[in-house]
Amino acid sequence: MDDSEFDYISWIKEQTKHGKNVLVGIGDDASVIDIGSGRKLVVTTDTVIEGVHCRLEDGAVLIGRKSLAVSISDLAAMGCPADYCVIAATLTKDTPRDFADDIYRGIRTIADVYKVDLVGGDVTTGKGPLSITTTVFGIAEGLEPVLRTGSQVGDAICVTGSLGGSLRGKHLRFEPRLTAGIELNRTFQVTSMIDISDGLVQDLAHLIEHRAFHGADIFAEAVPVSDDARALEADDGKSALEHALHDGEDFELCFTCSETVAQALVEGGVCGVSVSRIGTITDSGAIRLLKKGEAPSILSPDGYVHRFGQDG
Ligand SMILES: [Mg+2]
Repeated sequence: MDDSEFDYISWIKEQTKHGKNVLVGIGDDASVIDIGSGRKLVVTTDTVIEGVHCRLEDGAVLIGRKSLAVSISDLAAMGCPADYCVIAATLTKDTPRDFADDIYRGIRTIADVYKVDLVGGDVTTGKGPLSITTTVFGIAEGLEPVLRTGSQVGDAICVTGSLGGSLRGKHLRFEPRLTAGIELNRTFQVTSMIDISDGLVQDLAHLIEHRAFHGADIFAEAVPVSDDARALEADDGKSALEHALHDGEDFELCFTCSETVAQALVEGGVCGVSVSRIGTITDSGAIRLLKKGEAPSILSPDGYVHRFGQDG
């Protein structure tokens, strides 16, 4: 298939009709299902594939850890708890038993930290590459899931942590911002939220696409550039800021909120995680980068696009 995964997902979305209990269907970080008594089931699934999202040299423990962390990160982006998971692993005939055990140990470590109960799954052996699919369920009680579609013109745009250069190791070792995401929802009334999996600009584009006129201004000097992004700049000549704007798999949260809330978060952080206010939702219909002393430039959301048939 030579089309992007986003086009394919849009096509599936057009073909799919949901029942009345489905509050949020295809197209957000997770789906939301009304299960009665004021409770909502929030569910997401993700796949980590050898050669695309990890390499065998990364080690089984980190591969296992990442496979569950990416799904926990999606529930963080909904501002909802991650309570249960089921996991399907496709090993290969060359996968040694110790390696398989270590995948489980990696899953176990992060499941224990975030108190996600592993309640089932499936193990199969295929021709390769190795892949692990995790499905995580959360039950939201007295908590409204935060969607991608809630931002208003004038809202502040914020991110947690620092961005760029995750290839240097963060993509395997990142902490999903679960407690921060829940707190942002519960206490700070954030208006929309997404986790940064494909790159800041590309994921931010999902927070404005529900209104054709919506745009975003990003203040270049306010983007929290990571040390890894700076190290990559020295290696590949692409600026650290470009890495911060476009590199995928940082798994930080990007969210929108009022000016007042943004100010409080920048001063105090959330659950021990730093927050940077990087921009504003506008009615310009475009994502613009504002740099002091330069004319604004339009950013195209050319972060990492997973393409079918890609192996790297
Ligand atoms: Mg996501």
